Amino acid sequence: MLVLSSCQYCGNKAQYYCTNCGKLLCADHVTVAHTVYYCKNCDLEVYEEQCPKCENKAEFSRNDNVLLCEWCKTPTVVDGYAYHQQLPEKIFSSILRINKKIADLLYLTDRYHKLVDEILKVRYAKIKLFPDIEDDLSILRTKIDNLIKKLRIISDSLFLKINKKLQSLNYLRSPNLNNLEPAEELINYLDKNYESLEHSLHLKIEQIEEYFAAIGKKVDFLNYQYTLLKIIYRIIPEVEGEELIAIIPRMWIKKGVKLPKRFVFVFTNKNIYLLREKGMFRTMLKLKEKIDLSNVRLVSESQTLLKGKVVKISTLLSQYSLFGRDIAISELSKYFSIYYEYFKYSTSDLTVINEFKYYNLSVKDLREAINKYLNNLRVSLLKKREIKKEIMYKNSLVARRQQILQRLANIRRKIQEITQSRAGRYQSPKVFNNLLQRLMEEQSRLEKEIRMNDAKIREIDELWGVFYDQVS
Ligand SMILES: [Zn+2]
Ligand SMILES: [Zn+2]
Ligand SMILES: [Zn+2]
Repeated sequence: MLVLSSCQYCGNKAQYYCTNCGKLLCADHVTVAHTVYYCKNCDLEVYEEQCPKCENKAEFSRNDNVLLCEWCKTPTVVDGYAYHQQLPEKIFSSILRINKKIADLLYLTDRYHKLVDEILKVRYAKIKLFPDIEDDLSILRTKIDNLIKKLRIISDSLFLKINKKLQSLNYLRSPNLNNLEPAEELINYLDKNYESLEHSLHLKIEQIEEYFAAIGKKVDFLNYQYTLLKIIYRIIPEVEGEELIAIIPRMWIKKGVKLPKRFVFVFTNKNIYLLREKGMFRTMLKLKEKIDLSNVRLVSESQTLLKGKVVKISTLLSQYSLFGRDIAISELSKYFSIYYEYFKYSTSDLTVINEFKYYNLSVKDLREAINKYLNNLRVSLLKKREIKKEIMYKNSLVARRQQILQRLANIRRKIQEITQSRAGRYQSPKVFNNLLQRLMEEQSRLEKEIRMNDAKIREIDELWGVFYDQVS
């Protein structure tokens, strides 16, 4: 049923709508300008020879038919019914924009779970330095968890409001010019919500990133130690309760009066292992010496003119001088202080990190809730015919994809057959070469087609559901 809306000047049947001031107008109360002028002074297009703003004479610009609002004099008048038809899609795309913003946080949970896996791997390898990693991780988890919960509340109340408003407009199913202004208000409301959501999410994600960065630095160091440990762990004996502090490759060590040799230096909470590095290109490692740290009498650091920093370690029987890059030497002193107070610098049990393994941050609920809201709105707001058309189009793309894959598989098989049958021959016949070239060309054409096809599928998925199945 067509609802008659009346002109806000004369009460006659309205046809036009001014998007600037929101007035409904009849044909009599819309001015049609046939000439467009340009005012240099105001850098403005005007519709009279004399600029209404500065009253200077404006230049002729072009002939054009422009509808002007009688009320606000701006060229923002549109056909009301045509405008009404566009509104459902406008509203829906505003909603999708908010939805996309919320989807931004999905990657945070993925990153969090990857981080937990990395820390678990390192801890199980008995590298237990930086006990505060677990504390930071727990704060990080709480922060992400709270954000997910907050977004759930926000999206629940937002969709409730949207739905209520749209219900009062009967989902814009029948053309009614009186709905234009409230529908525009809804779009403004959604855009404002988008902006505030963007702002608050930005702040929250920034805080979360800080934690990721702080933990990441430590985990990088532990990961580095882990990769070194993977190379040497077979060479060193297994000792009950022994945990790795650090491995320093390429350390020069002089024992007693012998000449200095190059070693990999392994520092644990119990022993020092010296692994001899042999060979220039493919280095072989061999355990040369084990120094029980409880036998170490003296550790001193000194500066020499020729060799730079030197650390001296003495046990009852021997004396070792260690030198290498300055950084490595100063790290060495740090590792000794860690050894003296190892309980302070390490985490004592694995139960803490193990708990993280069983506590998942899930966005599944949030995703499902939003999906439900979106699907409902999609059905009530957009025309069913359009959805059907889109779904049919997507199905045809998916079917085409299957076809291309099938043909690609055939072509690849043929190419393989030809190259294999050709392999033994001294000179391959020209027919073969021509065929091969044709097949390769066809192959690259199909590969290009499938890429374009996939891009189209992605585009549809993005418009019709951001929380598509691939995100988990
Ligand atoms: Zn009128
Ligand atoms: Zn107006
Ligand atoms: Zn002017």
